[in-house]
Amino acid sequence: MEGIRKDTESDNYNKYGYLRNADGSFIQIGIRANEVESLTRKFNSQALVEKLAQEENVVHVFCVDKNLKTIADSNIKDVGIIYDKNKEKEMQEALEGKIPTKDSYYEKVDTKALTIYVPVAQNGEISNVLVLSLSTEKVYYSISMLFIKCSIIAIIMILMLLWVKNKNIIKPAKRLDQYINQIDIEKNIKYRLPLVEDDTFFGIASSINGILDKTSSYFYQLKEHQEELEASNEEISATYQQLAASDEELRAQYDEIQSYTEKLEGLKEKLEHIAYHDSLTDLPNRRKFIKKLEEEISKDKSGAVMLLDLDNFKGINDTLGHSYGDKVLKKVAEELENIKNEKMFVSRFGGDEFFVLIEGENDVAEIENYAKQITNIFKNKLIIEGEEIYISCSMGITLYPFDSREVTQLLMNADMAMYKVKNAGKNNYMFFNETMTEKLREKLKVERILREAIKKDELKLLYQPQVCTFTGKVVGFEALLRLKNSSISPGQFIPVAEEMGIIIEIGRWVTKEAINQISIWKKKGLDIKPIAINFSAKQLNDLNYIEFLENTLKEAKVEAKYIDIEITESIFLEKKEETIVFVNQLKALGVKIALDDFGTGYSSLSYLTFLPVDKIKLDKSLNDKFLELENIKVMGSLVSLANSLNLEVVAEGIEDVAQYKRLKVAGCNYIQGYLFSKPLEVEEAEKIYHDNFLGKIH
Ligand code: C2E
Ligand code: CA
Ligand code: CA
Repeated sequence: MEGIRKDTESDNYNKYGYLRNADGSFIQIGIRANEVESLTRKFNSQALVEKLAQEENVVHVFCVDKNLKTIADSNIKDVGIIYDKNKEKEMQEALEGKIPTKDSYYEKVDTKALTIYVPVAQNGEISNVLVLSLSTEKVYYSISMLFIKCSIIAIIMILMLLWVKNKNIIKPAKRLDQYINQIDIEKNIKYRLPLVEDDTFFGIASSINGILDKTSSYFYQLKEHQEELEASNEEISATYQQLAASDEELRAQYDEIQSYTEKLEGLKEKLEHIAYHDSLTDLPNRRKFIKKLEEEISKDKSGAVMLLDLDNFKGINDTLGHSYGDKVLKKVAEELENIKNEKMFVSRFGGDEFFVLIEGENDVAEIENYAKQITNIFKNKLIIEGEEIYISCSMGITLYPFDSREVTQLLMNADMAMYKVKNAGKNNYMFFNETMTEKLREKLKVERILREAIKKDELKLLYQPQVCTFTGKVVGFEALLRLKNSSISPGQFIPVAEEMGIIIEIGRWVTKEAINQISIWKKKGLDIKPIAINFSAKQLNDLNYIEFLENTLKEAKVEAKYIDIEITESIFLEKKEETIVFVNQLKALGVKIALDDFGTGYSSLSYLTFLPVDKIKLDKSLNDKFLELENIKVMGSLVSLANSLNLEVVAEGIEDVAQYKRLKVAGCNYIQGYLFSKPLEVEEAEKIYHDNFLGKIH
């Protein structure tokens, strides 16, 4: 084949081809160039159409150009037919690029067909339409054939599945169901499911067998227990019946016993009353009295035992007869009962002896009041059986636990005191321990006065000047406590205050009063002179004293150095270390410490070397000894020892000029005593404030 070229003869453009003949010669075939393309297209479309027409189900294939002229057709004779543009709208659509379809009927082959219009593009432009008609009947036939084939396969599969299911599941399950139905634990406890190894439910069956094993063992146990229970149930019901019967019996017996018990209780009470009471007067008897007293003592209570003995009772009995005598005793019992209160316990020991217990009372004055109340019964004549009779009594009183804690001793004490009254002329009362009772009485009186004085603010301080031995000037005062309305001395009331614990309150009052006094004198324009206050060992219990002192000084704007605190060495006896700490705290505040009453206690000189004190106060008793000539040297050494330890020495209780002179020679710093001045009221102290005492002695 040659490409298109110009024919040298005709000047036309042709395409030439050559065929070789058998003899080796060539035949040249020329085709006009303008026809080559259309022929090529024609033959190509036709070939495609025919090829497609051979496909199964294809009824008709043809191809049209833009003008709807047939350029290829499976019926070759139809090539060249031009279709009507108006009728063939699908062809028009295909030329616009769509792919429309249409159902049609082909008479020639008597079949329904589906016609598809396919646009054919050449050089990017739709130039032709391929029309392809497919026999739908044939398509449907092949689809249904395919469906039938599939259905048959599916049915076969289902049947096979059913067969398998029946063989492997349903049958074994039914079998297992049958076996399980045969289980009857009660009747055939040993029943087990038969086991087939290939069986689908082999596992389940063996598990059920396991459960059956356990169940049967529990069942056996249950059966055993049930039998036991039944047995004991029978036993219990038998016992219950027995019990019910005896319960009634017991109830009856109980009621009987109850009534006996009540009777017995009554009897017991009566017996007890008889045992503890006097049959004549119905007062508690000796036994009861002793019991009561023992109880009181064991409870650490204090009180009094009084023995009351009628005077001349024997005479009454002898002259007026025993039955009259009994009536007298009854009358006395009655009178005693009449004045009785909750603290008073009256008893009769027999004869004409009555014992009275005063419970829980330690005030001797109160006890005396009871004694007076009792003796008052006999002041007037008693009327017995319409007759007036004059009787008196003698009474002995003993105090517990002061006189004794022993009951027999107390009874003896009361008896002894009562006999003393009889001997002294009868018709009176007397305490067993008069001196002790007297002291007790005194102490209670002091306590009462002291408490009252504190309550009514009836305390005051006196100020005794301390005089410089060498200049004669007043260098300070000692504050000494007094009661405004009582002459009781501090020597009496301070120990009571200490014993009762009121010293703490008193101590604070004294501290405050002395500090205020300094502040008053300061305000009056007097030069400040120190005041010494006494501090009792018992005040160590006042734990906040230091704080109190500090605050009081601050409030009064008084410097601590103007306060001397006098303590006695006895303060160091107990809790020595703690006390030294306490005293050092006082010193740290700035107050001075004086060791009071030096020479009365241990007064060991070695004390002076370590006790935290600034001064020592030589006691009156010591100073009195210095009057004797042989002691002069000792006094001198004592004073110089104190001075060498940097301690000032105050001599106290100096009444005598000779004493003063000796102390001066010995080097004693200060003198305090009646020689110069007694303790003074504030106003008097102010008067001698600037005096020189040396001028007053000779
Ligand atoms: P004291 O501390 O040794 O006080 C000195 C006592 O001796 C005072 O007795 C004073 O009046 C007395 N006195 C002073 N100079 C002479 C003298 O030349 N001759 C004689 N015969 N006596 C003289 P007062 O005031 O009766 O105090 C007795 C004791 O009571 C004091 O002894 C003191 O221990 C205590 N006391 C007094 N006031 C207080 C106080 O406020 N608190 C405390 N805790 N105790 C106090
Ligand atoms: Ca003192
Ligand atoms: Ca003293």
